[in-house]
Amino acid sequence: MRPFAYHRPTDPAALEAILASLQSEGPPTSARAQFIAGGTTILDLMKLNVARPEVLVDINSIEDMTGIEARVAGLRLGALARMEDVARHPLVARQYPVLAQSLNLAASAQLRNMATVGGNVLQRTRCTYFRDTSWKACNKRNPGSGCAAIEGYNRPHAVLGVSRNCIATYPGDFAQALIALDATVDVRSTRDRRTIRFAELHRPPGERPDIETTLAPDELIASFFIPAASWTRRSRFVKVRDRESYEFALAAAAVALDMGEGGVVNEARIALGGVATVPWRAREAEAVLAKRRLTPEVAAEAGEAAFRGAEPHKFNAFKIALGRKTLERALIETAAIEV
Ligand SMILES: Cc1cc2nc3c(=O)[nH]c(=O)nc-3n(C[C@H](O)[C@H](O)[C@H](O)COP(=O)(O)OP(=O)(O)OC[C@H]3O[C@@H](n4cnc5c(N)ncnc54)[C@H](O)[C@@H]3O)c2cc1C
Repeated sequence: MRPFAYHRPTDPAALEAILASLQSEGPPTSARAQFIAGGTTILDLMKLNVARPEVLVDINSIEDMTGIEARVAGLRLGALARMEDVARHPLVARQYPVLAQSLNLAASAQLRNMATVGGNVLQRTRCTYFRDTSWKACNKRNPGSGCAAIEGYNRPHAVLGVSRNCIATYPGDFAQALIALDATVDVRSTRDRRTIRFAELHRPPGERPDIETTLAPDELIASFFIPAASWTRRSRFVKVRDRESYEFALAAAAVALDMGEGGVVNEARIALGGVATVPWRAREAEAVLAKRRLTPEVAAEAGEAAFRGAEPHKFNAFKIALGRKTLERALIETAAIEV
């Protein structure tokens, strides 16, 4: 047995008191203190001995973090809103289709009923070498120990954003939809409150694969804000995987298009999943589409551009072709949406 303390604060003030007391004993590192929301991944990692927090702070009783509020300016989602509740919200499905689709295609109904949108964006990689502690070499788990996946079995691994220290794929789906819709994140801690662009939340592995986000260890995601923009309704999520449901993406594309007369793209926003170490904004593909009519040929050009910098390893080169085709399909299907 590995003992750990468990706190369940009921309001933001009680949470802040707990965080402050943890800090007074030294900064709560991600290894030392962890939040628990739905628990569908953190408990998994604790049972596998990958996550070994000394303190679990259960945030489920904190008020004002479960809301789904649609306003004229946009949509605010509390970090504790359950994935299924967001996916099934009629207004989300109608006005922000890429969000609802990315959630509906994730995990299983049981998991979606338990899991929160805040926990979803912070889930850790499913890399086998990360989740299996019998492998010593994992720079995410044991900084400086190496990366077993680089020379190992790397079929599910990333081809974009990789470093010599880590090629693990970012596993989630919802994050790509948030990037496509230019979402922001409200973050709170004992020190302050701040708002960051969602695209700035995740860090590529670089030299420090163990540091995955720009959040300080005591920072909590309070909510997400998704602006109602000219591309919001014409948005779509396409996910390709080994089986039809209950499976992570091999390649995924979240696309949002602002289109003008005659099928010309005013602005395209694209994020790729299943192929990169972080939720991946495909800026090169967006640039190809700007001010052009979205034909199948132009979509193929965008797919090429998105994967120009890809770095495959022994078993995952197929992801380049798959990723291109997934993006092409997502673009054509998104352009066909009537708004
Ligand atoms: C079999 C299986 C299949 C799955 N398939 C998919 C899939 O296809 N697509 C997909 O996207 N996901 C998939 N998932 C992942 C699932 O969606 C996540 O486990 C879930 O979304 C995590 O949310 P949670 O609330 O349970 O997080 P938790 O397990 O409670 O927390 C996850 C992490 O986030 C931190 N955290 C949680 N909330 C906050 C917050 N508000 N602020 C700061 N830190 C926080 C925790 O400390 C922890 O580190 C799958 C999971 C399983 C088990």
